[in-house]
Amino acid sequence: MTQENKPGWKLEQSYTQLPDLFYTRMEPTKVEAPKLVVFNKSLAENLGLANEPDIKVLAGNEWPEGSLPIAQAYAGHQFGNFTMLGDGRAVLLGEQVTPKGTRFDIQLKGSGPTPYSRAGDGRATLGPMLREYMISEAMHGLGIPTNRSLAVAATGEDVRRETDQPGAVLTRVSESHLRVGTFEYAVQWGTVEDLRLLADYAIQRHYPEALEDENKYLSFYRKVVERQAFLIANWQLVGFIHGVMNTDNMTISGQTIDYGPCAFMDVYDPKTVFSSIDHEGRYAYQNQPAIGQWNLARLAETLLPLIHHDQEQAVQIAQEVLSDYGKIYNRAWLNGMRAKLGMITEEDQDKALIEDLLEIMETNGTDYTNTFRALTLDQTERLEMAGITTFVNWHKQWKKRLERQPQSEAEAFSLMKRSNPSVIPRNHLVEEALEAAVERKDFRVMERLMEVLKDPYAYTQEQDLYTDLPDPTDRPYRTFCGT
Ligand code: AMP
Ligand code: MG
Repeated sequence: MTQENKPGWKLEQSYTQLPDLFYTRMEPTKVEAPKLVVFNKSLAENLGLANEPDIKVLAGNEWPEGSLPIAQAYAGHQFGNFTMLGDGRAVLLGEQVTPKGTRFDIQLKGSGPTPYSRAGDGRATLGPMLREYMISEAMHGLGIPTNRSLAVAATGEDVRRETDQPGAVLTRVSESHLRVGTFEYAVQWGTVEDLRLLADYAIQRHYPEALEDENKYLSFYRKVVERQAFLIANWQLVGFIHGVMNTDNMTISGQTIDYGPCAFMDVYDPKTVFSSIDHEGRYAYQNQPAIGQWNLARLAETLLPLIHHDQEQAVQIAQEVLSDYGKIYNRAWLNGMRAKLGMITEEDQDKALIEDLLEIMETNGTDYTNTFRALTLDQTERLEMAGITTFVNWHKQWKKRLERQPQSEAEAFSLMKRSNPSVIPRNHLVEEALEAAVERKDFRVMERLMEVLKDPYAYTQEQDLYTDLPDPTDRPYRTFCGT
C-alpha cells in the first residue's frame, strides 16, 4: 500500500481561504482523561480513516497533521430574533478528503470555550452527545440528508449543568457547516466583497454546477431552496420534529444539523412540540414547512446584492424562486406519501385520500409510524382503530385505489416497505439507551438499538421488538437545547 491510499487522517482546511472575519483560529481545550465511548466504524471506513480510533484526536487533545483548528463565526435568527452566534463550543479541525475525493468537515463539539461562547462553558455532556449520535445516525439510516457522528469521547471531567454531568466530545461529520446564519453574519459584519467570497466558496463546495450559470448566485439560491424543500418534506414523512429551526441551524448543503431538542412524533398530532423552550409552538411539526420558507427568505435577503445590482429587481427575482418552494415541497411530500401508501401511479384524488387518513389518525390518536407499518404489513386488524367506521371505510377506498393501478399488490407493498420505517428512534427507546449508558455505563442497550436503526426498512424480527409503544404517562416528553 502506498502512503497515498493508506487509511488515516487526510485533513485540509479550505475555510481559512475566506477573510479573517469568518473564523477565529482556536485550538480545542485539552481534557483530563479521554475515553472512547462509541465509535462509528462504517463511517470511519467511508472517510478513509484507520480502523483504530484515534482517541487523542477524538477528545481534542491532539490534532492531526493538515488540520488547522478554527471556530466559525455566524449569526442567526433564533425564534425570530437576530443574534450574533458562532461556534461557542465547537472547533472545526479541517476537512477530511475521503478515498473517493469527497470533502467532509470534521468538527469537535464540546471542545471548550471560544470567542463565541458568550456565557457558555464551551462544553457538552455525555447524555446529549450520545443522543445526537443516535438520532443523527438513525436519520442517516432513514435515508435523510444529515450530518453524521463519528464518535463520542468522554472527557473524564465534570460539566456543571443543573447537576454535575460527565463531559463528552462528539465528532461531527458534515458536508460543511455553512448555515443560512453564516450569510446573515457576512451581511451584518462584512462587506459585499466578503459576502461574495462566502457565496463563491459555498457554490464551489456544494453546487459547482451553478458556476456555469449566467446568474450563479440565483442558481445557488434556487438549489438551496430545492434541497431544503426536499429535506423538510422528508422530515414530515417520517415524523421528525427538529425543534429548533433557527436560521443558524439550517445548512446550505441541505443536511439536517443541530440535534438538540429534536424528537420523533409518536401519536399523529400536527401540533406536536417537544422542546421545553418552544412555548408558542413556533417549531411544531405542522409549522416546519412554513418555517423552512421563512428561513429561506432570510437567506434571499442576504443574497440580494449578488443577485442583481438593482435592489428592486433582485427582490423580484429572488421572490420568484422562493415562491417555488411551496410547489417543490408539496410535490416531494405528496410523492413521498404516495410511496408510503403503495401508490405507484398518480390520481387526482390521492391527496384527499392521504389527508383523510391523517385526519382519522389525528382524531383517534394513533401512532404515526405504526399505522403506516401496519398498512405495509397488511395487518391493520392489529391497529386500535381497526373497527372504527371511518377507518374501515378509508381502508376499503385505499384498497380500491391500489386495485386501479396496473402494478400488482406485491409491488405496492414492496414500495411501502422501502418507504415506511419499521423502527424509529422512539423517545422511550432513546431514553432507555441513554440511561443504561450514562447511569450504568452499559452501552449495549444503545448498541443494539443502533443496530436495528441501521436499516429501518429491513423489517427484521429483531426490529419487531422495537415497535412497542411505551405505557402511557401523563407527563409529556420534553427535550432541551444547549445541554
Ligand atoms: P444551539 O442551540 O445548539 O443552536 O446553539 C446556539 C448557540 O449557543 C451556538 O452559538 C452555540 O455554539 C452556543 N452554545 C450552546 N451551548 C453552549 C455552551 N455550553 N457553551 C458555549 N456556547 C454554547
Ligand atoms: Mg446550533
